[in-house]
Amino acid sequence: MNRIQLFLLKLYTFGKIKETRYIKEIDEEIAIKKGRGYPQAVPFINVILFPESIFKDYDKETIRYFYFHEKGHKNKNYLISSILCLIAILSAIISTSAFFSSILLLVLSKYLLMGICLIYFLVFLLIFSGTSWYLEIVAERYAIQRLGKQKYKQIKERKRKKYNLGIFDSVMGRITHPPYWMYKKIFKIS
Ligand SMILES: [Zn+2]
Repeated sequence: MNRIQLFLLKLYTFGKIKETRYIKEIDEEIAIKKGRGYPQAVPFINVILFPESIFKDYDKETIRYFYFHEKGHKNKNYLISSILCLIAILSAIISTSAFFSSILLLVLSKYLLMGICLIYFLVFLLIFSGTSWYLEIVAERYAIQRLGKQKYKQIKERKRKKYNLGIFDSVMGRITHPPYWMYKKIFKIS
């Protein structure tokens, strides 16, 4: 991790970076931030970031899965993944603004414009979701290659049983990540 990456990462996390740590399994230096959150390969800065809470909340095997999944995100050609992330972020912004515009137009009784906004909302939500699902499938493929199908299945099913997410997290999770059964289909896991 170079100084520019570290500097940008500090901005991105509002200065919450605790340390950087070399991880043998992925042959990579990752950043650890204070508090809660989820592991991520930060787009554009190209650094893997873990919240320290992960190390308390999950067992070693699951953490290994997180390493490989995030490494899978990072392994992807940097330029392509940055472009895809940009498309996803722009689509999310357009989709969200179209949604709130349609509510405003409903209040103003401009139904035709509201309909157009709703179409924008759906189309860009689909683009956002599709791009994100594609990036997740690529990352998951790498994790499965590294862990093997059986180990992967064990870890995923244990993780699913243990953690029930709230409604907001479940909906956001589904918009950005394919469901487990789809991974099982795609990667032929029985
Ligand atoms: Zn991911």
